[in-house]
Amino acid sequence: MAQIIDGKKISQEIKDELKEAVAVLKEKGVEGALAVIQVGADPASSVYVRNKKRACEYIGIRSESYELPEGTSEEELLSLIQKLNDDSNINGILCQLPVPAHMDENKIIRAIAPGKDVDGFHTQNVGALVVGQSGFVSCTPAGIIQLLKRSGIDIAGKHCVVVGRSNIVGKPMALLMLKENATVTVCHSKTADLKGICREADILIVAIGKPKFITAEYVKEGAAVIDVGIHRQENGKLCGDVDFDAVETIAGAITPVPGGVGPMTIAMLMNNCVEVMTR
Ligand code: NDP
Repeated sequence: MAQIIDGKKISQEIKDELKEAVAVLKEKGVEGALAVIQVGADPASSVYVRNKKRACEYIGIRSESYELPEGTSEEELLSLIQKLNDDSNINGILCQLPVPAHMDENKIIRAIAPGKDVDGFHTQNVGALVVGQSGFVSCTPAGIIQLLKRSGIDIAGKHCVVVGRSNIVGKPMALLMLKENATVTVCHSKTADLKGICREADILIVAIGKPKFITAEYVKEGAAVIDVGIHRQENGKLCGDVDFDAVETIAGAITPVPGGVGPMTIAMLMNNCVEVMTR
């Protein structure tokens, strides 16, 4: 049976470490505040936003909420972001994605000052990751690195296959694994022989958005399997992109859904918020 990588426990450890760091910073007079913007009332986004605000409260930083109606114009949102960029009491800004269809998501992301972009989505931060300079890193991939390291899984020299090439998960994930000295292969919907390539992975990271797509035939015996996907099934339970029950019997280590990658995303967001406070 595979080692179950416990994201809930690891994310709690990280949040506890951050809570201590925030207390020390507060003693030195450094306060943290995250501005959380949500446009519209998408229920999934509301859950994420609520969890992010709770995490801020837990580690001891202030969160400011901006809940804007669905019909907000792009100009209004951009002017709010500008106001927050200029506000020295705010050190992190995030705009919950997706924004409504009448807005240009890239324009919104670019409007956030790179130094306050705790989501790590701004092209300046992405560029810094590409060339190996310091900057904010997208939270989900950064959380996966922590999951691997804190579970005692060596990365250097391993063959890592990342399935998915989105800007927020797949691409930064591949770059981070490269930075950790893995040999990296990135797969996507046009990859020929996906199964064969996945079977070569020592570490298989899956972010494709297709429930239970990765079955045991995609996995080399003993591989570490990281499942980024989150899906609500008809029975109301959550599942990932990996068929957990089948893959668990062959993998060396595996993340469950829920309780694997999910909780790490918020922990790493908090990590980025604390990083701004130390700058
Ligand atoms: P996107 O939809 O942006 O990207 C999906 C990627 O998967 C694309 O690169 C696509 O390829 C590739 N893909 C789709 N189908 C296949 C296939 N059959 N074979 C190989 N590759 C395929 O998704 P995200 O990266 O944003 O998210 C992926 C999943 O992770 C979702 O379920 C999402 O809900 C979840 N997620 C979870 C988070 C967490 O905190 N746990 C955070 C972010 C996302 P192509 O580029 O060719 O189209």
